[in-house]
Amino acid sequence: MTKSCPACGSDSISTTEIHNRIHIAYGDYEEYIEVVDHCLSCGEEGDFSDVNNTEINRALNLAKRHSVCNIIDFLQDQNVKTAYLERALELPARTVNRWKTKEPSASGLALLRIIRTYPWILEVADADYDETFSRSKLMEQAAKDFYQICEANNFDQKYRLAQGRFEATIATKPEFIETKFTTNNDNNFVVSHCSY
Ligand SMILES: [Zn+2]
Repeated sequence: MTKSCPACGSDSISTTEIHNRIHIAYGDYEEYIEVVDHCLSCGEEGDFSDVNNTEINRALNLAKRHSVCNIIDFLQDQNVKTAYLERALELPARTVNRWKTKEPSASGLALLRIIRTYPWILEVADADYDETFSRSKLMEQAAKDFYQICEANNFDQKYRLAQGRFEATIATKPEFIETKFTTNNDNNFVVSHCSY
């Protein structure tokens, strides 16, 4: 089909192809070609044959598929079995495999991203979202992350001191954590560094 200008009907058109790439969370870069048509008669510019949306959607779907595979591979590297994931989240058997082999649903992709960001959330789900357990898990993870921050800062003294206080607090009962974290200035200092 001959391409024509939507403004003046001329078929005297020059086309430029722009190589773009798209990225979504935990995905790879996917390349796509954007077409820009230019009418040599009236100067109108645009995507005259409406192909760009299809091309962007193709790249986006590919990016989502790769992102799902990357997330599932990451979880397998962390020894998170798909059967465990499905059981903890009360998902039908083979749900993860369906996400991997077919196009994932928007909710499936959202769930996978949350699990990829906070893998320990599966343990919380497996514990039936027990409040005490989930709070302890959060503190445990915060301590681990804090340790990594200390490590990244070559165990700078101020971080090490805060880390020590933080771990000492966690080692106590959960109800102690709750009261200490909201009232004690030293512990607030720890929390403020954890979030950075
Ligand atoms: Zn034109």
